[in-house]
Amino acid sequence: IDLDSFTHETIFKQGDKYWFFEKSEDAFPGQAFGLEINQILYHTKSQFQDILIFKSLSFGNVLVLNGIIQCTEKDEFAYQELITHLPVMSHPNPTKALVIGGGDCGVIRELIKHVELGTIESITMVEIDDMVIQLSTKFLPEMAKYHNHPKVNLIIDDGFKFLKSTQEKFDIIITDSSDPEGPAEEFFQINYFKLLLNALQKDGIVIMQSSENIWLNLSYLKNLLKKAKTIFKNVKYSQCYMPSYTSGSLGLIIATNDELKDVTKPLRKLKPSLEANLFKYYNSNIHQSSFVLPTWAQNELKN
Ligand code: SAM
Repeated sequence: IDLDSFTHETIFKQGDKYWFFEKSEDAFPGQAFGLEINQILYHTKSQFQDILIFKSLSFGNVLVLNGIIQCTEKDEFAYQELITHLPVMSHPNPTKALVIGGGDCGVIRELIKHVELGTIESITMVEIDDMVIQLSTKFLPEMAKYHNHPKVNLIIDDGFKFLKSTQEKFDIIITDSSDPEGPAEEFFQINYFKLLLNALQKDGIVIMQSSENIWLNLSYLKNLLKKAKTIFKNVKYSQCYMPSYTSGSLGLIIATNDELKDVTKPLRKLKPSLEANLFKYYNSNIHQSSFVLPTWAQNELKN
């Protein structure tokens, strides 16, 4: 796609350079994160959302849905690893995993590591937009490489609808969704937490991206945690540090109905050499430290 003739609300020309700016009047007014664009790789409006993929100067290929960055090749591993390995390593014997959303397939890539370790036996992924998967296969090949794996059951459907009708119970449920503005809106409501609990084994663990962090909208985060706490007995907040999510970090909400479980410490540990071989971001120290908050945020989120 020729940059000179391409127009998109996120793209701006400065001198002879083109920049992508992630902006949101509602979620983070008055600030933006920018990446210089090398090349537009693909743009379309699918049935569900605006999909833009570009090659950036410094962050590799970037997937953008409805103007919001979903992942960049440079730092995607941080998020995919933390959201996957936190719940899996906190569970004594996780065999069945469910992913809601996750179209770039990065979470599947991380879950497959536990299939290969002999822990996870089946992965179900429910993604609403098949186009995200197809385009990720083409433009994010390091992420989307295992969706046809024999242990993966891929369902193209609305995750909310799936959870309403499923009779299955899972050990781990990972909500790897986009932000609330768009098809993922329902994932940030109390009813969704109810559905999660219903599809979870007694000692199961759920985790979701909160679409927020402590620097952006602490009261929104507090509210979301409150919603989770009305349904789950044990709710914790963890942070993933990475430059391409707005303000450099993304919050994860991890919950279980097992009051005695301490998800802030890994229950299972891998040999340090194996851990270092398998993961680039996650390790057992990061597992614990991701729950440590600065004082003001800790006080704010306490109740
Ligand atoms: N890691 C990313 C982040 O935090 O922004 C999320 C990446 S992943 C690409 C998000 C996926 O959720 C998208 O592919 C989107 O199509 C999917 N999604 C949004 N709403 C959904 C729904 N109702 N059911 C299933 N998948 C949904």
